[in-house]
Amino acid sequence: MKKTINIAIDGPSGAGKSSMARRIAAELGFLYVDTGALYRAVGLYVYRKGLDGLDVKAVEALLPEIELALSHEGGVQQVWLCGENVSDEIRLPAISEHASRVSAYPVVRAFLLDTQRRLAAEHDVIMDGRDIGTVILPAAQVKIFLHADVEDRARRRYEELIARGTPQSYEEVLSAMRLRDERDSVQTRMAPDAIDVNTTGNSFEQTLELLTNLIRERLDHVV
Ligand code: C5P
Repeated sequence: MKKTINIAIDGPSGAGKSSMARRIAAELGFLYVDTGALYRAVGLYVYRKGLDGLDVKAVEALLPEIELALSHEGGVQQVWLCGENVSDEIRLPAISEHASRVSAYPVVRAFLLDTQRRLAAEHDVIMDGRDIGTVILPAAQVKIFLHADVEDRARRRYEELIARGTPQSYEEVLSAMRLRDERDSVQTRMAPDAIDVNTTGNSFEQTLELLTNLIRERLDHVV
């Protein structure tokens, strides 16, 4: 099989990883893989079973029942849970919470490892998550660690929620973001060979231009 090109984008929630990765993937003709959606689908399954995600043994017992698949329609990733398209439902705030809880369990991380590696072996991918450059794809040709101050990330999420017609107060968004940072802190790690990009204060277009240039430059060297 031809060796594929893998770009890993890691960083905390709300740093703009997915919107950046989606745009750059479209520009380069790569497959965009949003790994958070896989954790969200596991979180949704646990939620539907009436569990709060805090009992690791109960979560582990459910894993063999969980069938996950990803498809891509017009560049937009769709997530399938046991044959049902759950792409919209996994974005609900309660599911973010459950995803974050279950993602702390090594057994859940191990359960999702093969799916992520298989996609990267079969396609040129831009994959975003928390541990892509460190654990999932340690040999990725390009690794970016994208982050911004928590207040900046909360402000962006706050504006996004208003635009979506589901507003929450800034204080609420900020405290949820802080909680998620704390829960995700163990798995959110920067690989030693990652490029560190702090987007605090940047506009979307500024960060996009910066990342696109960085990635193109790296690819010129490694491909
Ligand atoms: O990126 P997103 O916010 O959709 O991810 C949902 C949750 O899944 C995160 O809060 C994090 O706990 C978990 N996650 C993870 N590792 C990844 C991607 C997401 O632990 N590679």
